[in-house]
Amino acid sequence: MRAAKLLALAVAACTAPEPPRRVEQSPSSAPTAAAAASASSTPSAFERLYHPADGTLFEKKRPARPGEWLERFKEPGQSFLRYQGSRPVRPSAERNTLVLQPLGKLDARHAVLVGKLREVMAAFFGLPVELRPALPLPKKGQRTKREGTRTWTQHYTRVLLDEVLEPRVPKNAVVYVGVTVEDLYPDPTWNFVFGQATLEDRVGVYSLARFFPEFWGEPSSPEREARTFEKSAQILVHETGHAFSMEHCTEYECVMNGSNSLEELNGQFGELCPVCLRKLAWNIGFDAELRYEKLRDL
Ligand SMILES: [Zn+2]
Ligand SMILES: [Zn+2]
Repeated sequence: MRAAKLLALAVAACTAPEPPRRVEQSPSSAPTAAAAASASSTPSAFERLYHPADGTLFEKKRPARPGEWLERFKEPGQSFLRYQGSRPVRPSAERNTLVLQPLGKLDARHAVLVGKLREVMAAFFGLPVELRPALPLPKKGQRTKREGTRTWTQHYTRVLLDEVLEPRVPKNAVVYVGVTVEDLYPDPTWNFVFGQATLEDRVGVYSLARFFPEFWGEPSSPEREARTFEKSAQILVHETGHAFSMEHCTEYECVMNGSNSLEELNGQFGELCPVCLRKLAWNIGFDAELRYEKLRDL
């Protein structure tokens, strides 16, 4: 069934509206990546990236609290061997590029953000990233969302994945990822979704809408802009990880953890854990040390 192939990244509770929320806590992906880079100068240290026996670099997955993703969805996790045996989406000589597809209009500020995300994606996945000209968002699947006095438009991810992205997957694309600053929903019964990707069809779509303070009627600031970039990058690599057939991570605190709310997402680690890093390094064939160095430099 097609529905079984779809993995939703994050949804709000279906009954209660998501409250506006200021974000104070910041995940520590950059310092951790730098620490890992400096620790990976010898083969034995490199080995620790995959088998961190001392437990200082990576944290095992904390037990889910009520309302969190793993409390709501009892996912079994995906070992490296199961991933390897799952015939995951992989780059080839012909399909060797990550293609980013803006959906709907991007203003100048959005375009700068997407340009920075392109750089992150290239460093994170060790592949060239191509940015396509924007495509219009379809009328089909649009709905109006109301919360209190606020109203805004949401777009149906199934329409975007099935009717906009899948028929247009470029020949050179190993993965084709749609990005929009409009809000999304994955099912008429759900409040919203940050993003959705298929595990087999090489397409994904994600929304930056809720990372902008304006969405919540709040003023922008340099700190909020930095946070918008950080969370947008987190969503982007998570969704693209799904498009490389990676399932949610249940073993470590990891960027591939599922999240059931903006609050849960905000508390999550922004980098790959050793298990998920090993999956991607095997799949794509990048040098894990070099990757850390590039991420640190960014
Ligand atoms: Zn996900
Ligand atoms: Zn992981």
